[in-house]
Amino acid sequence: MFDHGLTVLRIRGIPIKLHITLLIFLPYVAYVAASQFSLIASSLEIPLESMRLPPLAWGGILAVGLFVAVLAHELAHSFVALRNGVRVRSITLMMLGGVSLMERDDPEHEAWMAFAGPLMSFGIALGSYGAYRLLPGPAEVRAALLAFALTNAIIGAFNLLPAFPMDGGRVLRGLLRRRLGPVRATRVATAVGRGMAVVFGLFGLLSWNFILVLIAVFVYMGASSEQARSSTRELLRGVPVARFMTDRLGDAYADESPRAVAERLLRDNLVGARVIDEPVGGEGRREIGVVTVWDLARQLGRGVAPATVGAVMPVDVPRARADDDASRSIDALASGEASAVAVLDGGEHVIGLVTTAEIQRALALAGALGAPRAGG
Ligand SMILES: [Zn+2]
Repeated sequence: MFDHGLTVLRIRGIPIKLHITLLIFLPYVAYVAASQFSLIASSLEIPLESMRLPPLAWGGILAVGLFVAVLAHELAHSFVALRNGVRVRSITLMMLGGVSLMERDDPEHEAWMAFAGPLMSFGIALGSYGAYRLLPGPAEVRAALLAFALTNAIIGAFNLLPAFPMDGGRVLRGLLRRRLGPVRATRVATAVGRGMAVVFGLFGLLSWNFILVLIAVFVYMGASSEQARSSTRELLRGVPVARFMTDRLGDAYADESPRAVAERLLRDNLVGARVIDEPVGGEGRREIGVVTVWDLARQLGRGVAPATVGAVMPVDVPRARADDDASRSIDALASGEASAVAVLDGGEHVIGLVTTAEIQRALALAGALGAPRAGG
């Protein structure tokens, strides 16, 4: 759902994307902002006739300003991430705010990284409140500044509620981690998150606030999937990745057609293929990567697949050594950017793949074998 964005600009190398839902939602935000603006204008006793712009125009300006403020909020998260060496894949502005897609979790700096966003929102609120108080100017501009300050303060405060995966929930987990360790900290933070989601949902339903209901669903699902990811990681901790990878791998030449390779993988019941580059003459034959059935299916499904497997092959497939801890492959797959982790022997030879299917298989078995113990 996050990759349907249109990249509009890049800031420090981070692609900034606009999600389609934002465009649908913008008029609604403008409408709400206009009524909030009118409320503030009347509380400041500004007569409607003296305004140069109608409230709806102010609502539009405020709505665009708010999405810029949300972008600044996300950039604050991202800059802290970058400073700690975590790559930021993208920032997407969508209906319910912004989403920063980080390459990986950073347990050590999680609390600070999560806090930076609300801090930016409070900073913007304070700045525009200062401008409202100090700057001389048309009364309606000052009313808009006050509305902008209030909204940013609300965004900052709302995000700080301890409803994992919202910022406050991440701050909570970051702070608990030192005392409880990662597993229990995640359990507490996601349980609080789900509890808050139920409160949001009930409150939203009772007050006919469907935005709040949507947020409740988003928080509940986010907290549940993080909890599941944490348990999975815990279950696989200490198990070498070679123990549950699949070795149903074939070979493919880089200049073969994707369709031919896909047909072969299907016929031989294989999950993927090592891609081999063999220059004319056979000298210097080498493995240049791996391609999975999912990579092939995705490209072939688009109708216009590249002509060769070499071009279909993803460039930065996550890699693991055969004796690496299996729990680490979870994070590489959870980001959704890669369809598999390539498992290497001592050198550069790929001996197997870990896909979501391998993890699910391991989990199902561990769950089934663990059940009797849990029952008594
Ligand atoms: Zn945030």
